[in-house]
Amino acid sequence: QVVNYAPFTLLPSAVPRALFEQAYAVQQDFNLLVDAISQNKEFLEQTLASTIKVDDFTAQLFRIYMQVLEEGLAQTVFLGINRSDYMFDCGLDGTAALKQIEINTIAASFGGLTSRTADVHGLVLKVLGKTKEASRLLPNNPSKGLALGIAKAWELYGSQSAVVMFLVEEIQRNIFDQRCVENELWNRNIRVIRRRFRDVFEKGSLDGSRRLYIDGQEVAVVYYREGYVPQTYDQQNWAARVLLERSRAVKCPDIATQLAGTKKVQQELSRPGTLEKLLPGHPEAVARMRATFAGLYSLDEGEEGDKIAAAAIADPERFVLKPQREGGGNNLYGEELRQVLEKIKDSPERTSYILMDKIKPQPALNYLLRAHSPLQVSECISELGIFGVYVRQGQEMVLNEAAGHLLRTKAIQHADGGVAAGVAVLDTPYLV
Ligand code: ADP
Ligand code: MG
Repeated sequence: QVVNYAPFTLLPSAVPRALFEQAYAVQQDFNLLVDAISQNKEFLEQTLASTIKVDDFTAQLFRIYMQVLEEGLAQTVFLGINRSDYMFDCGLDGTAALKQIEINTIAASFGGLTSRTADVHGLVLKVLGKTKEASRLLPNNPSKGLALGIAKAWELYGSQSAVVMFLVEEIQRNIFDQRCVENELWNRNIRVIRRRFRDVFEKGSLDGSRRLYIDGQEVAVVYYREGYVPQTYDQQNWAARVLLERSRAVKCPDIATQLAGTKKVQQELSRPGTLEKLLPGHPEAVARMRATFAGLYSLDEGEEGDKIAAAAIADPERFVLKPQREGGGNNLYGEELRQVLEKIKDSPERTSYILMDKIKPQPALNYLLRAHSPLQVSECISELGIFGVYVRQGQEMVLNEAAGHLLRTKAIQHADGGVAAGVAVLDTPYLV
């Protein structure tokens, strides 16, 4: 086992205060939206119909979704932990606008480690003699907010002796991030266990009322930090996933909410009228959310898809081509985008992708500190994430909050990739 320090920037990065506040102000709206999508079978069915014909992973998730709906949900308490990510798009006149990159509805990470980065940057600034600047860094502790949501769901589940299960990776590369959330739960006298899909396959079971048991312990909440990439699943792990989804335990997220976080859903949300239909009676929330959307385009078969595919082949620098994958490193840019689209433009395969306008932030200089990497000044761009937490019991929202933020920064040479992918590093916003 090897322990490395988490990568971070030497200095905090400047973030426009107005955009930072805008991102916080829209988070409860996005929580409501994700929750509404997760309850809208017709919308998920229609939206993902073309995708599941060509994308096996999404199709398998969708099959499980239909299976649990058919059986009838045993789960009555719902817990969402998401992270809405943004970049600051620099317009022709030099003003920056907040543009959403995506919402992560499963295993949104770094809420734990980032609770420490403001302290690190505060110290660095003091060492540099910038005491006043150090005092202006905002405190930030997402792990507390995430734990609050988990604790609320655990409480509403209503069994004192039941545990919270973190569903973790086979090879645990980010355990300390998870421990921050876990420790908050222990502080509230809630027991936490860590298990892998294969443990669930070997030792998990449901009783007559579909309560979930593992190693003789009842599980109230399943918090997935794994399960969002196809490589995770062999036949046994799929069986374990089905067992968990069928159970009464609060899944964070349930399979419907995972589907709500797909790139295809994101693209359909940008169509005129869709938000209004999903959240009738919330025109202000709709306007706040829409203001953060970049251009998103369907590559479904037909005239609309033909046109945008041709536009992207002609000017690939304007777009990002995205498959239905999570975790960084999957998107296509520039010449590669052009080549791939050229190859698949007349095949149904193209519907497994969406196109998005490329966001172009203003780069700034910083030092990226990463174990075993040489230190050098780099031109960098940042991505701001806001953590959202909500709990619903039956039809009633009992908690809906923004739980803190995450700033990740990477050198501009890398078009794609997060902290886990070894590209971005943890940062702290310095509001300007
Ligand atoms: P993933 O689910 O793999 O995290 P994202 O949509 O977040 O997929 O894309 C991964 C990374 O690619 C982002 O963190 C960002 O750096 C870059 N990226 C994604 N969309 C855009 C965009 N529209 N413009 C510029 N960069 C983007
Ligand atoms: Mg992302």
